[in-house]
Amino acid sequence: MLTLPIYMDHHATTPTDPRVLEAMLPFFTQTFGNPASRHHSFGWAARDAVETARRQVARLVGCDPRELFFTSGATESNNLVIKGCLAKAPRPAHVVTVETEHRAVLDPCRRLESEGVRVTYVRPGPDGVVDPQDVEEALTDDTVLLTVMTANNEIGVLQPMAALSALARSLGVLFHTDATQAVGKIPFDASELDVDLVSMSAHKMYGPKGVGALCVRRRRPRIAIQALVEGGGHERGLRSGTLNVPAIVGFGAAADICRLEMDDEMQRVGALRDRLWRGLSDRVTGLAINGSVTHRLPHNLNVCVAGLEGETLLVGLDDVAVSSGAACTSAHPEPSHVLLALGLSDEQARASIRFGLGRWNTEAEVDYVVEKVSRLVVRLREMSPA
Ligand code: PMP
Repeated sequence: MLTLPIYMDHHATTPTDPRVLEAMLPFFTQTFGNPASRHHSFGWAARDAVETARRQVARLVGCDPRELFFTSGATESNNLVIKGCLAKAPRPAHVVTVETEHRAVLDPCRRLESEGVRVTYVRPGPDGVVDPQDVEEALTDDTVLLTVMTANNEIGVLQPMAALSALARSLGVLFHTDATQAVGKIPFDASELDVDLVSMSAHKMYGPKGVGALCVRRRRPRIAIQALVEGGGHERGLRSGTLNVPAIVGFGAAADICRLEMDDEMQRVGALRDRLWRGLSDRVTGLAINGSVTHRLPHNLNVCVAGLEGETLLVGLDDVAVSSGAACTSAHPEPSHVLLALGLSDEQARASIRFGLGRWNTEAEVDYVVEKVSRLVVRLREMSPA
């Protein structure tokens, strides 16, 4: 039995796993204390729960719990790194990033530019993968921070993290990665990769919305970050504000589930994605995958449908939730900056759709989507004047 509508937009957000919700519920009404209350058991219980979650998330991403700071999500974590690391850096200062980053990295970088920081946006190859040599050429004596995402939210392309972190280390540049789309989905180990700073978000890994984390590795000298939010000194002064205990508990539970089920899930979801691509490419002509096929999240398929306007396809797909780009930029009608950076034309970028598969998608759903999309494309092409 197929239940409609079908959700295939897991890069935008994921449903909260019922096991996560169950773990969260007692923290609304029973264990409701403020973890900053130091003088009674309500506070202690809440603090213990937060510290358990901190260990769970730290274990998933391969860092020490003391290196993990809870935030409201990856947007905040990225802002905290980019603005906070540059706040006190001597001028002239320089940041290096990549054109295909999320707006939560690009917009803070633009803000820095308005404040006199120089930013270089490196263009990736046509497959979306950045060449470490191009990054090396962009780094200068003034470079304070290199920020490159682990996995792209539109095309699922994975960047060469180990090479980039070795490069940053050898030149004494801080290395940050927005790992929001990778954490919980594919193996990610901050220690092994030797990255300095990692942003992540619970709602992309079957946890609740409005909670995330920033991992700040313990280095000598200490990585200096100026807080964006002050007042109360929570999270050791890096992020003040009463902690969202139920959400943090949910984040921890989600991290445990991802860690334990990741191997199976990658196989299962990857097989569904491959089935989707096989089905579509068997039935529809003129399809091309955007971005590297090999350096890619198993959950992602982003295809350009030659001669089609992506939006018209989305309107026709009334009972299938997919997307034409990042949810966060859907308010902007411009074609995706990610696809343009790969060298696609405006038209090709607009004719692209993103499928994001997830934990509960099934073969029957994939087959339904294949049928629906291929019939729709044929019909739209017949109607099109071209
Ligand atoms: N970075 C990436 C790569 C993302 O995909 C997202 C969410 N679309 C964010 C940052 C922002 O995360 P949050 O919703 O937690 O602020």
